[in-house]
Amino acid sequence: MASKLVAGNWKMNGALADNAALLRALAGAGDLAVACSVCVPYPYLAQAHDCLQGSAIMTGAQDVSEYVAGAYTGEVSAAMLAEFGCLHVIVGHSERRTLFAEDDRQVGRKAAAALGGGLIPIVCVGETLAQREAGETVEVIRRQLDAVAEVLGGEALGRVVLAYEPVWAIGSGRSASTEQVGEVHGAIRAWLRERCAQADAVSILYGGSVKPANAAELFAVADVDGGLIGGAALVAEDFLAICRAA
Ligand code: PGA
Repeated sequence: MASKLVAGNWKMNGALADNAALLRALAGAGDLAVACSVCVPYPYLAQAHDCLQGSAIMTGAQDVSEYVAGAYTGEVSAAMLAEFGCLHVIVGHSERRTLFAEDDRQVGRKAAAALGGGLIPIVCVGETLAQREAGETVEVIRRQLDAVAEVLGGEALGRVVLAYEPVWAIGSGRSASTEQVGEVHGAIRAWLRERCAQADAVSILYGGSVKPANAAELFAVADVDGGLIGGAALVAEDFLAICRAA
């Protein structure tokens, strides 16, 4: 059985004073029954780690360098993230793929770098609306996953978290339907079983317009092991309601 995880993706949002209020509310939430993590912008990692110490919520980052150390201006390594108490790091979010031209193999290299630094990569995959309408959804996702598997190798796949995030559902207010989610998560689980002995222990998150109102039904779908939450992760009571629905 895969363990459940709800991860918040703050994206490029936050400011010290606002974060303090949000983190204080999260830290005071008590036991949450499932693993929960907030992936914050780099400058706020120390703040998040301090505020959430002793709470049920872990900290994470939203990207990591594929390189280990050296002359890579602007990059942040997995080891640096680990020093700030990070456990999770999102890699291959569709915004990084589309706005910053990250390709499938680079996503694989970032996942490898995260594992090498002792972090758990949350590897995102998902189709665009045009790809879905062309009937290519599962093919696109298998291609994205294949590139990651080629870099990592089958055994290391057992140590990642996967997140299915249809591009058209991110920030749109329109989540995928439970049928669509079930089909893709089932296909991802089948893909894992072809490659990895630990396939059933890999958590597969759904992300894309998860809200308190739809979280419970999405999380009840077979092979959905939690969620990756964007907008709703910026509102303490919404994020906690989603954590409690998992
Ligand atoms: P959303 O974002 O919940 O705001 O749709 C999800 C994500 O981008 O991870």
